[in-house]
Amino acid sequence: MMIPLSIPCLQGNEKKYLNECLDSGWVSSAGPWVNRFEKEFASYLGVSDAVSLTSGTAALHLALLLSDVKPGDEVLVPTLTFIAPVNTIRYIGAHPVFMDCDDYLNLDTQKVAEFLEKECIPGTDGKPINRKSGRRVSAIIPVHIFGHPCDLRSLREISDQHGIRMIEDATESLGSSVGSNGNDLVRTGTVGHFGCFSFNGNKIITTGGGGMLVGQNLDTLKKARYLSTQAKDDEIFFEHGEVGYNYRLTSIQAALGIAQLEQIDGFVKRKRLFHKLYRELFSDSSWAHIIGEPPGTYSNCWLTTLEFKGDRRVNLRKFVEVLQLRGIQTRPVWKLNHQQRPFLDYQGYRLDNAERLYPRLLSLPSSSHLTEKEIEEVAIQVKSLYEETATH
Ligand SMILES: *Cc1c(COP(=O)(O)O)cnc(C)c1O
Repeated sequence: MMIPLSIPCLQGNEKKYLNECLDSGWVSSAGPWVNRFEKEFASYLGVSDAVSLTSGTAALHLALLLSDVKPGDEVLVPTLTFIAPVNTIRYIGAHPVFMDCDDYLNLDTQKVAEFLEKECIPGTDGKPINRKSGRRVSAIIPVHIFGHPCDLRSLREISDQHGIRMIEDATESLGSSVGSNGNDLVRTGTVGHFGCFSFNGNKIITTGGGGMLVGQNLDTLKKARYLSTQAKDDEIFFEHGEVGYNYRLTSIQAALGIAQLEQIDGFVKRKRLFHKLYRELFSDSSWAHIIGEPPGTYSNCWLTTLEFKGDRRVNLRKFVEVLQLRGIQTRPVWKLNHQQRPFLDYQGYRLDNAERLYPRLLSLPSSSHLTEKEIEEVAIQVKSLYEETATH
């Protein structure tokens, strides 16, 4: 028996809708299932349109293409994140500039502002030019790490002030919100010019694989839909106006997505409960800190992550392996992107906090279907392994 990190929870109408989908004959990337999923997803977010895609990575790629990011431009992106957003910057021939994280693991807003003000000068089109590289900075990709929302209001203000586009990587944060100017909450993914979501197997809802793009300009979203269908202009003669992509979600996936979306509130509730429980269970450990929800935000708590504080270095690879043998699946955070082989030559800006935190982080089992008893078991095992390794 393994207590898994984050696996799908398929206890709702998944089978029913899949069967109905097969019976309907609509299995490919058009038709009522896809339309319904897009509509229900948009309505959940409180936006007027959403474009379903093959993956979150495809959503990020299209968002960059539609943000007027040109080959040779620079895009600000966290060094501490899954590599997908960084790869998409290279798909279009732009260059990443790696940014540091704050203590919630999210983009450090202060440093972003500082970089744009001190390291850049305004170009002829008003967009910042990086003094070091001479390149134009045209976009920023905040990632809501492990579901905790970034400081979206400030980031959007900074972006607008400098005339750059903001593309939210909300792939981990479906169900999370931030405070708006009033007291009401707005969902992550809806504050930037674009928001990108993923329905990969380990995300809070899954379609097996899939993604969604939302955005603040409806014409641009139409364009995204067009580009995702090979930029087809004419249905009969297959005329294509541009180089397009095959990025459409299938109906089978959409049917799964509809069933999953019905359950999102329950999933968020469970994950938030586990997060709270972990905080309580580790509150008596001087060496452990649970990365919490940033103030003024509501997090889906997709993955709860522990930070090993103090001077002692934990051998994370070994720690994960031993926990695995004891039936508990955990994971260190991703290797920092500025240290990944394809990105060694790109600029990073004052990455000290990410470098400090990176060897100290461990994500704990957070699957929605876990029981409170299993969470307690995780805490007991993590604590006792830490104590054991301390005496060696
Ligand atoms: C999962 C994830 C993605 C990519 O989503 P896919 O659907 O797997 O392409 C992008 N960014 C982050 C931060 C992710 O966690």
